[in-house]
Amino acid sequence: MSEIYFDTRDTKFVLFDQIPIDDLLATEKYADIDREDLEAMVEEAEKVAKDLLFPICTEGDREGCTFNAEDNSVTTPKGYKEAFERFRQDDWMGISYNPEYGGTGLPYLLALACSEYFVGANPAFDLCTMLTTECAHLIEAFGDENLKDTYLEKMYTGEWTGTMCITEPQAGTDVGAAKTKATPQEDGTYLIEGTKIFITFGEHDFTKQIVHAVLARVEGDPEGTKGLSLFVVPKYLPNEDGSLGEFNDLKCTGIEHKMGIHASPTCTLSFGDNGKCKGWLIGDRSKGMRQMFQMMNAARLGVGLQGAAAANAAYGVALNYAKERLQSPSFKNMKDPSAPKSEIIEHPDVRRMLLLQKAYAEGLRAMMLTAGYYEDMAEAAKTEEEREKYKGLVEIMIPICKAYASDIGFKVCELGVQVLGGYGYCAEYPAEQLLRDEKIASIYEGTNGIQAMDLVGRKITAKMGANLMSVMAMMNDLLNEHREHEELKDAFQLFAVARDALNECSMHFATKGQSGDFLTVLFNATPYLELFGDVLLGYLLMQQAVIAHDKLNELLKEKGVDPSKKRKMRKLLKDDREARYLDGKIKTAKFFCHKVLPLAQGKAAAIKEDDLSAMEVVFDPIE
Ligand SMILES: Cc1cc2nc3c(=O)[nH]c(=O)nc-3n(C[C@H](O)[C@H](O)[C@H](O)COP(=O)(O)OP(=O)(O)OC[C@H]3O[C@@H](n4cnc5c(N)ncnc54)[C@H](O)[C@@H]3O)c2cc1C
Repeated sequence: MSEIYFDTRDTKFVLFDQIPIDDLLATEKYADIDREDLEAMVEEAEKVAKDLLFPICTEGDREGCTFNAEDNSVTTPKGYKEAFERFRQDDWMGISYNPEYGGTGLPYLLALACSEYFVGANPAFDLCTMLTTECAHLIEAFGDENLKDTYLEKMYTGEWTGTMCITEPQAGTDVGAAKTKATPQEDGTYLIEGTKIFITFGEHDFTKQIVHAVLARVEGDPEGTKGLSLFVVPKYLPNEDGSLGEFNDLKCTGIEHKMGIHASPTCTLSFGDNGKCKGWLIGDRSKGMRQMFQMMNAARLGVGLQGAAAANAAYGVALNYAKERLQSPSFKNMKDPSAPKSEIIEHPDVRRMLLLQKAYAEGLRAMMLTAGYYEDMAEAAKTEEEREKYKGLVEIMIPICKAYASDIGFKVCELGVQVLGGYGYCAEYPAEQLLRDEKIASIYEGTNGIQAMDLVGRKITAKMGANLMSVMAMMNDLLNEHREHEELKDAFQLFAVARDALNECSMHFATKGQSGDFLTVLFNATPYLELFGDVLLGYLLMQQAVIAHDKLNELLKEKGVDPSKKRKMRKLLKDDREARYLDGKIKTAKFFCHKVLPLAQGKAAAIKEDDLSAMEVVFDPIE
C-alpha cells in the first residue's frame, strides 16, 4: 500500500551544515534555543506528518468537501476536524509567531522545515494553518491593540481560523477591479457588502469562528489597488470576554469542484446580504494592498514550499517504488530474455529521472530554507546594515522561490508519475494525487507569470540592482573559492558558464529597460525567472557538494579508507549510510551541473533573441 517518506537527514544537512545556523542562534532573539531543540522539532514534525496527516490524505482526496445548501455549511472529509484539533492542541499552528500572542517564537526557518513535511503529507490540510497565520500576521502588523487582543492568540493557537479574501469574479490577477464595498459607520466600524470567490477554507467545520481578512473599497476612495482597504470580518461578532456573539451576516454560497486539494474547501462567500456584515479596518484606509504586499513574503514562501514539499514527497515515492518494481533484465543483459528481471532503478532512463528528481527536490528544500534563514536574519539583525542586506536577499528570492519552486515541484511530481509507469497514473499510489495537488501552487498567491514580472520589473532593479548584485556576489564567492576544487572542478566550470549566461541576460534587460523597451523585458520575464532559478539551484547544490566532500573526507579518514582504492570505497559505500548520503550529494550536484546547467546557455540565447512574433500574430478563433 502507498506510503510517504521524509528525508530528515537532508533537512538536517541543510539546517546544520549548509546554513550558518549558529549565526542565527547567536542572536538575542534566539538565545534560548539550541541545535538540539531544532533537531527534536524536525523529528517530531516528521511523526506528525506520517502519523496524523498522511493517513487521512488519500481518503480525504476521494471524499472531498461537501457543501450543505440548507445551512450554507461545509463538511470536510472524515478525520480532518479531529486531526486539526490534535494539530493545534500540540502547538503546531504558530511555530514561528509571536509568543506574546500565543505563538511559539521559534525561527521561521524551522517552521518551514516542519511545514515541508506537513505539506508533503497533506497539502490540503496545511492550507488552513497557512491562511490562518497569514491573516493573523496582518492583524499583528497593522491592527490596533483592540484587534490584536481580540484575535491574535485565538488564531495563532488555532482556536479560530482565518482566510484571505482578495479574489472576486472580475478581479483575479487584476485585484484593483474589486467591487466589494465598505461603508463607514458612526461607531468606527464598516458595513461590508460584496462577493469573494475561491476563498480557501472560507467555510468549514474545524472551528466555529472563521476570521476573514477582506479587501474592500470605501465609496469615494480611488479606483484600482490604491483605493483598497483591508478589514477584519469575523463570522461571529466576538464579545468582550472573547466568547462568540451574533452571526455576522456572511455566508458561503458554494464550493468549487477542483483538480486537486479536494480536502481544502474553496468557497464563494457572500458578505452583507442583509446589510448587517460588520468589518473593522486593519491599519490605514486605502493602504490595504500596500499592507498586504508588505506581508506577502511569508505567503509566497509558503506557496513555494508547497512545490519543494511535493517534489520531495514525489521523489520519495518514486525512489522506493523503483527499488521494488521488477521489469526487464538489466541493461547489461538486455539481449538475454531469460536473464533475471531487475529492479527498474537499474535502468539508465529511470536513474536519470530519479537523479533529476533528487537534484530538484533537495535543491528546492535548500532554496526555501535559505530564504527562511535570510528572513530570520533580517528580523533578528543587530544593525540596520545587516537588516538591509538580508532583506534585500529575501526580496529578490521571493518571486523565484514562489514561481520556480512551484513550477519545478510540478515537474518533479510529473517525473514521479513517469517513474511509476501505469501505476503512477492510478490512485493506488500517491504519485498522481501529489501531481494534482501541486498544480495550484503556480496559480494562487499571484500567478507565476506575475511573479516573473515582479522579478524583472521590481526586484532586480531595486536599489540600483544592489540586491541582484548581492546574490551574484554569493555565487562568485563560492566559485572563486572552489574553482580549482579537486573533485568538483569540472562542475564548477559548467556552473560558471551558467552564471555568466544569467549575468548576460540581466545586463540585456538593463539595456532594454534603459532604452524604454519594457515589452521585451516583460515578454522574457518567465524564461528569465526559470534561468535564475536553475542557476540559484545549481549554486545551492554546489555549496552542498563542497560541504559533503569535506565531510566525506573526514569520514574516510576516520574509517581509514583511502578514496583512491576503488574496492574499499565501494565497500564503504555499501556498508555506511552516511557515506552514501554524502557521496550522493556530490554526485547529485555534478549531475545537475553536467546535465541541466548546460541548457542555461540555450535559454539565455532565446531570452536575448529579439523576436516578438507572439505579440504580432493574429490568434484566429478555432472553429
Ligand atoms: C484552489 C484555489 C484556491 C484559492 N485560494 C484563494 C484564497 O484563499 N483567497 C483569494 O483571495 N484567492 C484565492 N484563489 C484565487 C487565486 O489567487 C486566483 O485564481 C489567481 O490570483 C488568478 O486569478 P484568476 O484565476 O482570475 O486568473 P486570471 O487573472 O484571469 O489569469 C489568467 C491567466 O492570465 C495571466 N494574466 C492575467 N493578468 C495578467 C497580466 N497583467 N500580465 C500577464 N499575465 C496576466 C495569469 O498569469 C494567468 O495565466 C484561489 C484559487 C484557487 C483555484
